[in-house]
Amino acid sequence: MSDALQGAVDRGEMVPWFQPQYDLRTYRLVGAEVLCRWDHPEWGLVRPNDFIPLAEEIGIIDEIGQCMTEYALTAIGEWNIDISVNVSPVQLESGDFTSWLEQSLARLRYPAKRLTVEITEGRDLGDVPPLVARLDRLRNHGVGIAIDDFGAGHASLAQARRLHATELKIDRHLTGDDSPETTAQIAKAVAFARDAELRTVAEGVETTAQLHRVRQLGCTRGQGYLWSRPVPRDEMARMIATA
Ligand code: C2E
Ligand code: CA
Ligand code: CA
Ligand code: CA
Repeated sequence: MSDALQGAVDRGEMVPWFQPQYDLRTYRLVGAEVLCRWDHPEWGLVRPNDFIPLAEEIGIIDEIGQCMTEYALTAIGEWNIDISVNVSPVQLESGDFTSWLEQSLARLRYPAKRLTVEITEGRDLGDVPPLVARLDRLRNHGVGIAIDDFGAGHASLAQARRLHATELKIDRHLTGDDSPETTAQIAKAVAFARDAELRTVAEGVETTAQLHRVRQLGCTRGQGYLWSRPVPRDEMARMIATA
């Protein structure tokens, strides 16, 4: 698989799929998350969990991340909605990604605030000062910083504070659990987010009961199978055109 993965970006096999995000007050489509798919000529569509760890290991995650971010920037230009892209902490370990993104942002004709970078890791990232400085640089350009999988693993309010996050993505395990403990956990995150003026996106919303719950708890946006699974670019374009 490692051999096949080398050069996959150059061969155009890494394709962006999109999952729409909705404003929970207006129920309008306001954004989308880019989710990478590897379209292998023989194996078909490979899901990211099956190749991202390997891509990190063999050092091509930078290439994949830049490719997906380019698709994200193009999508913002075409659709004029908010777009989020997943960034592996491995990509942030060197300054290359941030420098590259800063240069790309300089060429844009639209505000960088449409772009949000989702930090997708359980590992405690906040102890890495250069990483915080890099994220600050992006934020100063207007790029949003989301803490992905909030409430799962290491992702905490302390980390959100340290990284100067602009968004919390409530992990789908929290969205799907109506126990008093989890409800209190979401309420606490929302209260923090309100104070600090962060966006709260509930992930993995699958049922209307879950939707009503996260909405009542004060989450500002929702994303999940209830509205749509991730879809290819053309289908996303159709969804936007008919929204
Ligand atoms: P994630 O960032 O937490 O993305 C959400 C995952 O949950 C996606 O899986 C999505 O398809 C799935 N999902 C969305 N709505 C629902 C729902 O209502 N119910 C359930 N059960 N699942 C839902 P996917 O696309 O397989 O991506 C898996 C992970 O791979 C992502 O988790 C993200 O961490 C990583 N990933 C995806 N694209 C990229 C990328 O371009 N770069 C990097 N570094 N990682 C990526
Ligand atoms: Ca994500
Ligand atoms: Ca997530
Ligand atoms: Ca994840």
